Amino acid sequence: MDAQVVIVGAGPVGLMLAGELRLGGAEVTLLERLPAPTTESRASTLHARTMEIFDQRGLLDSVGTPPNQGMGHFGGLPLDLTGLATPYPGQWKVPQTRIEALLQRWAVGLGADLRRGYDVRSLTVAEGHVEVAGPEGTDPLRAAYVVGCDGEDSSVRRLAGFGFPGRDASRELLRADVAGIDVPDRRFERFPNGLAIASRRPDGVTRVMVHELGRPVRRRVEEPSFSEVAKAWERVTGEDISGGTPIWLNAFGNASRLAERYRDGRVLLAGDAAHQQMPVGGQALNLGLQDAVNLGWKLAAEVTGRAQEGLLDSYHDERHAVGRRVLSNIEAQALLLLGGDEVDAIRAVLAELIEFPTVRDRLAGVISGLDIR
Ligand SMILES: Cc1cc2nc3c(=O)[nH]c(=O)nc-3n(C[C@H](O)[C@H](O)[C@H](O)COP(=O)(O)OP(=O)(O)OC[C@H]3O[C@@H](n4cnc5c(N)ncnc54)[C@H](O)[C@@H]3O)c2cc1C
Repeated sequence: MDAQVVIVGAGPVGLMLAGELRLGGAEVTLLERLPAPTTESRASTLHARTMEIFDQRGLLDSVGTPPNQGMGHFGGLPLDLTGLATPYPGQWKVPQTRIEALLQRWAVGLGADLRRGYDVRSLTVAEGHVEVAGPEGTDPLRAAYVVGCDGEDSSVRRLAGFGFPGRDASRELLRADVAGIDVPDRRFERFPNGLAIASRRPDGVTRVMVHELGRPVRRRVEEPSFSEVAKAWERVTGEDISGGTPIWLNAFGNASRLAERYRDGRVLLAGDAAHQQMPVGGQALNLGLQDAVNLGWKLAAEVTGRAQEGLLDSYHDERHAVGRRVLSNIEAQALLLLGGDEVDAIRAVLAELIEFPTVRDRLAGVISGLDIR
């Protein structure tokens, strides 16, 4: 056996899981296709439960005190998060690249064996072990368990034959980080033919996001061009941003899928490999990190012979239920956010209800992860 556990994918979830497994005493090898960490700006929000976990693991010292936004939102409706019963109420702004860097230092520092440039292409489940291999010429690796933390298009999920039912995207948001433009900050401004969001960072770069009502979703093999984003922005807001310099371009939709199972024998899934969702309200990354924390100690106990019967299966039982609930919450938000005037009435009703502390605290509990014990 080359390791007790092989993790495929050294994104934030794979790295978190590797650290957790090491804390539980398991030997772990992480296989990552990218030769170096991604520099793409992706998620940027840590919610209260993840902050508590980072605190418990001594990771907050490296994060410092990130900027905190007390007001979150539910489908674009303001949602006060300041009353949450936690030392970390609100949402904490930390770029995903920084989170990955600190998790990598932590996991490798604890003894995880990280191998970059290893693209897993095959997976074979045998009696007593699983074998994964890269392209021809790479050494195959054997482990007692393999965990797919390899993102939305997970190879592990596909190779091991996990069902991944759900819906393709029917609506899309275009997004760009742009230097050299001057548009007003907008949290979620609804226009007659779409939605626009703009937020200027301290370094002067503005992130714009735009959704055009009724525009069919394209099957994309590449990110959108800046001209496509600028034209959509102009059609929705009337503003011309075409003179800016794009730093990063991206499109994302409201696809929603959940793996049928999080465990099939010696193969497990965590993070985006297990659930695909629209990245609204910063829940995707937090959901995945919390999968890793639920799984880590259980799998470590299993491979070191300390687990009680059924412990490892409780990972699926607990986290699949959480995934289903969060995905449904995200789908509701996507409808409220990206719907046209047909959702105005339901938005108005919800805006009234959200003022009631019970409603507010319930929604805030799901978004922050604090509703889970
Ligand atoms: C372009 C983009 C923009 C996003 N924007 C936001 C946002 O604004 N807000 C938000 O909350 N969330 C956002 N997300 C979602 C958020 O980034 C994810 O929820 C989070 O990264 C999930 O972490 P993960 O570790 O599960 O998967 P990932 O971060 O996708 O990591 C998977 C890792 O597996 C590796 N891998 C894949 N296949 C293989 C293979 N066969 N062999 C070896 N390695 C492999 C990949 O290279 C990658 O490093 C965005 C995601 C993307 C892709």
